[in-house]
Amino acid sequence: MNTLTIEQLKTEADAMREQLVNTRRDFHMHPELAFQEVRTAGIVAQRLGELGYEVQTGVGKTGVVGLIEGNGSVGETLLLRFDMDALPIIEAVDVPFKSQNAGVMHACGHDAHTAIGLGVAELLARHRDQWGGIAKFVFQPAEEIIAGAKAMIQDGVLENPKPSRALSMHVSSMEPVGTVQMTSGPTMAAAQAFSISVTGRGAHGASPHQGRDPIATAALIINALQTVVSRNVEPLKAGVITIGAIHGGTVGNVIPDLVEMKGTIRSFESEIEVLLKKRMQAIITGIAESMECSAELTFDVNPTPATVNNPELAEMVRNNAKALVGPANVRDDRRTMGAEDCAWFLQAAPGAYVFIGAGSSDESKHVPHHSPRFVIEEDSLPIATALVTKSALDLLKK
Ligand SMILES: [Zn+2]
Ligand SMILES: [Zn+2]
Repeated sequence: MNTLTIEQLKTEADAMREQLVNTRRDFHMHPELAFQEVRTAGIVAQRLGELGYEVQTGVGKTGVVGLIEGNGSVGETLLLRFDMDALPIIEAVDVPFKSQNAGVMHACGHDAHTAIGLGVAELLARHRDQWGGIAKFVFQPAEEIIAGAKAMIQDGVLENPKPSRALSMHVSSMEPVGTVQMTSGPTMAAAQAFSISVTGRGAHGASPHQGRDPIATAALIINALQTVVSRNVEPLKAGVITIGAIHGGTVGNVIPDLVEMKGTIRSFESEIEVLLKKRMQAIITGIAESMECSAELTFDVNPTPATVNNPELAEMVRNNAKALVGPANVRDDRRTMGAEDCAWFLQAAPGAYVFIGAGSSDESKHVPHHSPRFVIEEDSLPIATALVTKSALDLLKK
């Protein structure tokens, strides 16, 4: 049984504040896009090596894995996952540590995640006598394009040793610093991209009766698709169908042959996903047929599953969070229809994915993730470091 309390760990994390902030700001100044995290990965690998970790680099192109064993008897292998990539955004925040990589910005907080991951790695290494088993740190590339987790898994990150539990986290700029959101069950959605092609028959815009208009048909399809969530999904359940792109035609007086649309569906439960797909297919085929066109619906073959928290682990993290920031500052109901490829790790090993408030205490100053004005409060760094370390220690009890 480890004896370190969360208060002690918070004191240690607070003592590391300057280092956490400097590390985060350094990553912020030098952001790197998906699968290009060469500098970031280099720093991570070097730091893990200095801390006594066995380091593997180039896992899933630019991913880094660090392994360390506790001094206690062998127990769980805990996977701790932190993402490292930035976004193709021009930073609009004027800070001394503004992005120096033109057109690339840490606008989701993965700079903070990487710094926090190194902070947790340091504390676990410092307290090896307090735990048993193996801590497997996974510094993941390319979360923003939902590709890094898969690439690391393909390179064997879930083997040798195979993790039995997983922990991960995300800062949230939309929740005040000093709060924690830890939800049992699904916390982020399953996502699947789709495309719809509507084929008609082109004609002169002045003679629509000679053609079969795929644009008018696409319009009917888009409108009818809005009824799936509002009329078919049980009101207390969640689902999304979004069409985000539509292309057809070139000039105003020609009816084209083809309209192509692209979109995404989101859900927490597989029954809802099945329902969305079934209704979409029926609507698309039925409307196209009624309009004497044809339509094809295709789903991406690589969907992202929902990010699902194991209820027991979520409860453990929540209790640690309550001890750290006070029960009133811990929420258990934060769900978003955003998707996250950490889902793959949580599918392989029961785990918990926690959100750490990193926004201003003044809600009117909150800036969403992926905004060129994205900012975080750096007090979130020691909070996250203490919370993740304590939760890791609880899972790696001697
Ligand atoms: Zn993001
Ligand atoms: Zn993110």
